[in-house]
Amino acid sequence: MSGLESLGDLRGKRVLVRSDLNVPLAGTTITDDGRIRASVPTIRALADAGARVIVTAHLGRPKGAPDPAYSLAPVAARLGELLGQPVAFATDTVGESAEATVAALTDGQVAVLENVRFNEGETSKDDAVRGAFADQLAALADAFVSDGFGVVHRKQASVYDVAQRLPSAMGGLVAKEVDVLRRLTVDPARPYVVVLGGSKVSDKLGVIDNLLGKADRLLIGGGMVFTFLAAQGHEVGKSLLEADQIETCRGYLERAAATGVELLLPTDIVVDTEFPSADRDPQPEVVPASAIPADSLGLDIGPASAAAFAAALADAQTVFWNGPMGVFETPAFADGTRAIAQALTAVPGLSVVGGGDSAAAVRTLGFDETAFGHISTGGGASLEFLEGKELPGIGVLEQSA
Ligand code: ADP
Ligand code: MG
Repeated sequence: MSGLESLGDLRGKRVLVRSDLNVPLAGTTITDDGRIRASVPTIRALADAGARVIVTAHLGRPKGAPDPAYSLAPVAARLGELLGQPVAFATDTVGESAEATVAALTDGQVAVLENVRFNEGETSKDDAVRGAFADQLAALADAFVSDGFGVVHRKQASVYDVAQRLPSAMGGLVAKEVDVLRRLTVDPARPYVVVLGGSKVSDKLGVIDNLLGKADRLLIGGGMVFTFLAAQGHEVGKSLLEADQIETCRGYLERAAATGVELLLPTDIVVDTEFPSADRDPQPEVVPASAIPADSLGLDIGPASAAAFAAALADAQTVFWNGPMGVFETPAFADGTRAIAQALTAVPGLSVVGGGDSAAAVRTLGFDETAFGHISTGGGASLEFLEGKELPGIGVLEQSA
């Protein structure tokens, strides 16, 4: 595995860094700059080493063409504030502005290129189209650093193809993520407890499948609970249900029983007769998980379940948590998620939070991020890693010249 030192003396070298700067925006106001903050140390390290730093990143999902709503200009400005030095901004990614901006950099200076997804070559499924765009990106630089963990599971030009064209290294952020995720998959300290929630069981099947063979306990909450409850023969009312996954969930229950993995499902559920909306006050009610009324839907795990889950976490030496326990965006249904987050802050071993909404839940519920062992910056990437898949953006660095 090759860190920044593998690139040698960086003084005067143009280094292209792929960062994950995909922050939420309200107009041009950044509402959570967590990903920019997480990207600063690698950019700082490169600038301090005398490199001419060129940052490439995406924002949102523009359709392969420039769209002012997704400009990285406000992100470049915020990066400058966090770095404490001016950051130049190119109004295109590989065009005249990018070339001129890069040419004007002196050692230790930093530039941000406009949204890499303004170019259709970035995400093209056609290797030749992607490759041609990667050639243009690579022509701007002498070396490449991959530091956008949130995108390393994507086979995209600025993540994958460019690493085949330049001497490449892993940035500190990606290295840290990979190191933590390896501790969850290779010989984890035990007891190893996995907590899964979120909206859809079908998003997490690969993870459940892979971790059922590795974890000691699997705690299930969130919207995926109801497909498991249905697999046990319970009525789930109007709750989220993926009927086509009932058999799969039944298989997981049987496998857990056969292999001695403790699979905990909630025994009580917080229900309401409608999904939360702005024009109606929630009317939460706690019911047994085996008796969800036909006119209700489950929106959080109940207090007895939250306490049981917390107890199952108390002696954990390794924890991976992905997916909120309920519709935490509405305070009336946030208690289950809060209880899990609280329990994670107290575990004796390594606690890892993965997933965009889970990380957001930890922050919006007011927890101190440093109370957790690690909060992953990349939801999809961490899940694919835990499914046991090879991540293209990591694999390509291992083959790099
Ligand atoms: P992550 O981004 O952490 O991987 P997911 O995207 O899988 O998490 O799921 C997050 C969403 O799941 C949240 O928006 C939350 O409101 C929703 N959710 C949790 N519990 C339920 C439930 N019982 N019914 C419907 N949605 C739920
Ligand atoms: Mg999500």
